Amino acid sequence: MLIFYHALASLLLLGLYPLLGNYTFLVMLSSILTDLDHLQLITQKRLYSTKRIKVFIKNYFKAYQKNEDAVQLFKGQIFLFHSIEFVALLAILSIFYKPLLFISFGCIFHILGDIIHHRMNGWPVLRWLSLSYGIMIYAEELRINHI
Ligand SMILES: [Zn+2]
Repeated sequence: MLIFYHALASLLLLGLYPLLGNYTFLVMLSSILTDLDHLQLITQKRLYSTKRIKVFIKNYFKAYQKNEDAVQLFKGQIFLFHSIEFVALLAILSIFYKPLLFISFGCIFHILGDIIHHRMNGWPVLRWLSLSYGIMIYAEELRINHI
């Protein structure tokens, strides 16, 4: 999902203000900034405009529909902030620093938006959702490419 839509969706989180107070803004901010993960992809593929990003996503969708190896487009990419492992780590560390819990809420909200968007388009989710699974698949690809 484009960051613009994440920013729009984050406005829904304002409904949490009576419950969370100013922490609501931390949840909103982290729900948007989770996409910092994509900076590596944007710089690597030189996707410096919304148009180029949309073309990249469209190509990914076409490749996936044709059962081609669409994941090659994301080869070598690690989406740390989008991973279950990162969110779990934040939640655990929030025992020592409470704001991390609200940052993890924002990440979860962001990830749910991305999951819905991916499922609506029929795109795979597990590779980016689980850091360990993504690394395992990437390692397998490296092994296959070196044989
Ligand atoms: Zn995202």
